[in-house]
Amino acid sequence: EFKISDIVNDVIFDAKLLLKEGQQIKYRENITDLSLYQDEQVIELILTHLIHNAIKYSPENSTIHIDIQQNEDLTTIKIIDNGIGIPLKDQKNVFERYFRSENVINTEGTGIGLNIVKNHLENLDGIISFESEEHIGTTFIVSIPNTAKQ
Ligand code: ATP
Repeated sequence: EFKISDIVNDVIFDAKLLLKEGQQIKYRENITDLSLYQDEQVIELILTHLIHNAIKYSPENSTIHIDIQQNEDLTTIKIIDNGIGIPLKDQKNVFERYFRSENVINTEGTGIGLNIVKNHLENLDGIISFESEEHIGTTFIVSIPNTAKQ
């Protein structure tokens, strides 16, 4: 049992070391803060990867927003960046193992993270989706049941 706000604050604290010049992370703290009965470490890993990507793929002096909404059953987390975006033609491939878009050649990475994140979410009965526009930014949306399946 844990609160999603605690995990998010921990991940943001650790991610601060990676921020570029003038980058900041803004977390609009949710009013409802229900407990989750889920694998805390797995959810921390998922959020860490998505926030690291948001930092890596957005420029100096930009802001990353984290937004959380909860209802009785579901916790939904949005990670919103104003970065390079994912070209439309690549959007169907981003969850493939080792896929990297051609607009990321000057950054490090293997292309495996989102594949791992998606597999973990499926194990939790969760869902991941995104909206992205090249040169505008990307929003990843993760929904997780508040209680693990039996
Ligand atoms: P690694 O997993 O080793 O960190 P990676 O970041 O390249 O490498 P993924 O996290 O799997 O791998 O992402 C796959 C691809 O999806 C990225 O290479 C990039 O093209 C695209 N991508 C993911 N997140 C973003 C984002 N926030 N903005 C723009 N492109 C993104």
